[in-house]
Amino acid sequence: MTTMLMRWVVTLALCFAFMVPAVQAQESMPPIYYHVDGTGNQTVNNLVNKPRNEWRVLSGSNASFGYTDDVYWFQFELPEVNFDRVIHLPYPLLDRIDTYFVQSGEVIEQVRSGDQFEFSERPVNNRNFMIPVATQEAVTVFMRVETTSSMRVPISVWQPSELAGNEQAINMVTGMYFGLLLCMMAYNFFTYLTTRDYRFAIYSGYIIAIGLLMASLDGTGYQYLWSWFPWLQEKAINLFGALVFVLASLVASKILQTEIRSPLLHRGLQAIMVIAGLLFVASIFLPYATMISIVLIVAILASSFLIFTGIMLWRQGLNYARVYTIALSALLLAIIVNAIGYLGFLESFFVQRYLIMIGSAIEVMLLSLVLAIRYSEDRRERLAAEQRANARLEVKVKQRTGELEKVMRKLKEMNQKLEVKSNEDRLTKLYNRGMLDEDLPLEVRRARRTGYDIAVVMIDIDHFKEINDRYGHPVGDEILVELSRVLRVNFRRAGDRIYRYGGEEFVVLMPGAQELGCHDKVLTVTDAIRTHEFKTERGEVKLTVSVGMALLNTLPGHTSSKQLLEAADNALYQAKNAGRDQIRIARTLNEASEKP
Ligand code: GH3
Ligand code: MG
Ligand code: MG
Repeated sequence: MTTMLMRWVVTLALCFAFMVPAVQAQESMPPIYYHVDGTGNQTVNNLVNKPRNEWRVLSGSNASFGYTDDVYWFQFELPEVNFDRVIHLPYPLLDRIDTYFVQSGEVIEQVRSGDQFEFSERPVNNRNFMIPVATQEAVTVFMRVETTSSMRVPISVWQPSELAGNEQAINMVTGMYFGLLLCMMAYNFFTYLTTRDYRFAIYSGYIIAIGLLMASLDGTGYQYLWSWFPWLQEKAINLFGALVFVLASLVASKILQTEIRSPLLHRGLQAIMVIAGLLFVASIFLPYATMISIVLIVAILASSFLIFTGIMLWRQGLNYARVYTIALSALLLAIIVNAIGYLGFLESFFVQRYLIMIGSAIEVMLLSLVLAIRYSEDRRERLAAEQRANARLEVKVKQRTGELEKVMRKLKEMNQKLEVKSNEDRLTKLYNRGMLDEDLPLEVRRARRTGYDIAVVMIDIDHFKEINDRYGHPVGDEILVELSRVLRVNFRRAGDRIYRYGGEEFVVLMPGAQELGCHDKVLTVTDAIRTHEFKTERGEVKLTVSVGMALLNTLPGHTSSKQLLEAADNALYQAKNAGRDQIRIARTLNEASEKP
C-alpha cells in the first residue's frame, strides 16, 4: 500500500519535471550588456554615451547576482520587426525596474515597474514583469534594476502571442501545483473535522503556509491575493518562510511522537519552533534585506534537523519515519537548490522554481500519507489497549467467579450441615421422624425393585412415664440418650437406620432383612436393653421395651409404606396389650403373632 502510493507520487513528480523543459523554450536573445552602479546615482543619459567596451557582457540570459545593494543596468539592441514585442522578466520579486527605450541617443519612452509599486500600476497584468516594447523599429533598451531581494534579471523578449502559449504551460503547472495543495489542505481539514484529531488541522495549516510561501516566490500571491498590499509583498517570503518552519517542526513532533520517543529531538524541534516564531515576528518589523539571509540559513539548518529527526527515528524502527524522511528530503533538496540560486550561485531559474514546487508537492502528499498511517496506527494501538483491558476484565471476572464459587461451596456445605441438623433429633442425635417419612417410601420402593425384604421395627419404652415421675424429666432424657447408644451399638449392619419416632418411641429400618434373622436380632437387642444398667445421676435404672415389627414381604402385596408403618404400630400395640417387654410380628395389617 505504502510503496504503491510512493510510486504514484514519484510518477506525478516526474510529470511535473518533464513539463519544466517544455516551458523553457524562448526567443533567441541579442547579447545583453550590464553595468554595476555602486552609487545608484547614474542616469540613463549618463549611460547612453558610455562606450560598449566599458559594459560587461552577460553570459546566458539568466543574470543572477545574489544579494546586493548595487543598482544594475542592462542594455541590449532590438532590431526592426513588423510585430509587437514584450520584454519578459519571470522573477516577480524585483523591487524596481526602470526601462528606457532609446533611439539615436534620445529616450523615446520610459516604463516604471517593480513589486514596490501596487500591482495595478503594471503595464501588463501578470505575476511576472512584462514590459511592452515601445516600437517595432530598431531600438536600444536600457533597464535599471534595483532590489533588496536576490538580483536576478532573466531577460527575454517575446512576441506576445508566443509568450501567451508559453505562459499557458507554466500556468497549468502552477495551477496544478496550487490545486494539489488546495486539495490536500481541504482533505486534511475535512479529516480533522470528522476525526477531531487536531494533528490533521495542524497539517492543514502547514500546507496553507507552504502554499502562501510558494505564492510569494511565484508572484501569484501578489497578483491575486495581496496586490493592494506592497508592504506584505516585501515581507511575504520571510513571513511565510518562518511560518512554514514553525508548523513543520510542530507537524514533525506530532507525527513522529518525539515527545515520548526522543526528548532530545523533541527539544530540538521546539527550539526550531521558537526560533522560526521569532523570525516571523522580526520579519514584520525588519526590512526584507536584513531578514532574508537569516531566514535562508535557518531554513537550511531547520530542514536538516527535521531530516535528522526523521532518520534517527527511522533507525529506531519507526516505520513511517522512513516515509517522513523521504518526504522532507524532497523539500530540503529543493530548498537548498533554491537557496543556492538566491545567493547567486546557480543560473537556471526554471530549475529552481519548479524544483521547489515538485519538492513541496511530493512532501505535502507523502506527509499526508504519513499522517494517515499515524492515525490508523493510533487507532490500532487504542484497539489493542481496549483488548488488553478486556482481557484484564475477563481475568478479574474469572477471579470473582472463583471467589463466588468458593462462597457457594461453603454455603452448600453449611446447608448440608443444616439439613443434617434438620434431619437429626436434637436430644439423641438419631434421625428424626421427618427423616423417616422421607426414607421409608424410598426404602419400600427399593425393596420392591430388588426383591429383598425390609423390616420396620417399632420400639417403645415400657412405663416410661413412671420413670419420669420417679426420677424427673432430666433423668428421663439421660435414659433416652443412653438407650439411643445401646440401639446404635446393636443395629450396626450396613443399611440399618435408627429413628427417634416420638417421645420414647424408636423405629429401626432394616433393609434386606429376613423375618427370622430380623426377629433374632430384635430379640438380642431387647435382651440387651433388659439387662442394661442405665447410669443416671440418680443411680442405675433398669427398663424394658415392647417391640412391634412389620416385614414388607410378609404382608399382602401393594402394602404401602404408610400401611407398613401402621402394621408395625399395631403389632407394638398388641405387644403392650400382651403385658409389655415382648415382640410382636405383624401378620396382616391388624393382626400380629408372637413368633415368626
Ligand atoms: P407404656 O408405653 O408402657 O404404655 O407406658 P408409658 O409410660 O411409656 O406410656 P406413654 O407412652 O403414653 O408415655 C410416654 C411418656 O414418655 C410420656 C412422657 O412423660 C415421656 N416422654 C416423652 N418424651 C419424653 C422426653 O423427651 N423426655 C422425657 N424425660 N420423657 C419423655
Ligand atoms: Mg409411648
Ligand atoms: Mg412407653
